[in-house]
Amino acid sequence: MKNFIVLFLILGFSLVTAQAQKFQGQGPVEIVPTASKPIQKQWKGNYSFDDENLTFSNDFQGARLNGIIHDEDDTYTALITSENTPINSSPWYAFIVWSKEKKQINLILTYQESVKHRYYPKLSHDGINWMPLDSINYTEYDKGTKDFDPDSRPLKVKIKLEVGPDTLWVAGQELHTSKHVNNWINTQVQQSYIAQKSIGKSVEGRDLKLLTIGKETGKNMLIVISRQHPPEVTGYLAMKSFVETIGSDSKLAKRFRRKFTTYVVPLMNPDGVDNGHWRHNAGGIDLNRDWANFNQPETQAVRTFMENKIKETNGKFYFGIDFHSTWDDIYYTVDEKLEGNMPNLVPDWLKKIKETIDQYDPNISPSDKMEPTIISRNYFFVNYGAEALVFEIGDNTPRDFLIKKGEISANILMEMMLDRLD
Ligand SMILES: [Zn+2]
Repeated sequence: MKNFIVLFLILGFSLVTAQAQKFQGQGPVEIVPTASKPIQKQWKGNYSFDDENLTFSNDFQGARLNGIIHDEDDTYTALITSENTPINSSPWYAFIVWSKEKKQINLILTYQESVKHRYYPKLSHDGINWMPLDSINYTEYDKGTKDFDPDSRPLKVKIKLEVGPDTLWVAGQELHTSKHVNNWINTQVQQSYIAQKSIGKSVEGRDLKLLTIGKETGKNMLIVISRQHPPEVTGYLAMKSFVETIGSDSKLAKRFRRKFTTYVVPLMNPDGVDNGHWRHNAGGIDLNRDWANFNQPETQAVRTFMENKIKETNGKFYFGIDFHSTWDDIYYTVDEKLEGNMPNLVPDWLKKIKETIDQYDPNISPSDKMEPTIISRNYFFVNYGAEALVFEIGDNTPRDFLIKKGEISANILMEMMLDRLD
């Protein structure tokens, strides 16, 4: 376990300091209308300067760059805006940049009014492997004084970039668009016991992919979803590791798959992800407020799938998990006094995870207000009795650690569920 601590130091991320003052989580979820609203699509293309010596582009999936101007000398200012408002302050940006000759430029990242900078810049030369920008090339302006909410963040940041003929990718979080997710799904289905299918279409007609791990006819089921909110990449990466562990060839995973079938929707909001949205789907709605009204095709598809599975198998969903990202690792659980199909599974599981990972003590925030269901956790619990939670990973949680955490969490869960099955 010492390795984890060393890892924090090496990566220089803020998890350890953030835990000094623990993230308390967000307040109660508000009921909001979920009928579709207009969204602002972004103009796609190249922004060229200095007789095309320097070019920025947002002409790819997952990008968000809404305007850029040349200030003076080698300094440029970019504007990033959201798909609509009101919206949660999570400005996701991504663009590529290249120049005919190698040079250094300054780029100031700015956002629409009242929105603060959130995601630390990551760089890539292939759009697949990413490194955080060196902190000597990063300057914050008008930084707030609070610990966690948007008031803790700077209004704008200046980043120094080395540009040249090779394309440089710059993004708020690593790009895992529908193309990348589909590639991952294709690696998983190489296993004979993992299958994929589409359970419906998004607003813009993208397939909503479902992975089945184990027997299609199994009566004992789990539901795993991720990426309702497009920039929440750390939650997605933890989900991948969690799912790969359930689909691995360990003895435990084999035993688990004989008794349980795990259904996974890895990309709940493919339109939002591919359009670089900060929060909403192409219907302009926060999908994780639509689990009572079901106005959006993405939530409808999961509801129809789960209802049909219960009819087909006459079985039960024992567990439901929805992966997200926020300021710091936190679990939003169902209050212990409310019992589902496997009482106390989630509190016991989280306790064991904390015991297993040394020096790791994320907040647990239970709720007993389950109706109207509004969010996925409540829907899974109220409608199916699934022991359910929202599993939130910090934006800056070191990537190696969250992969380890996904793996440890899955192993402990499989053991516990096998022990508790009648
Ligand atoms: Zn979220």
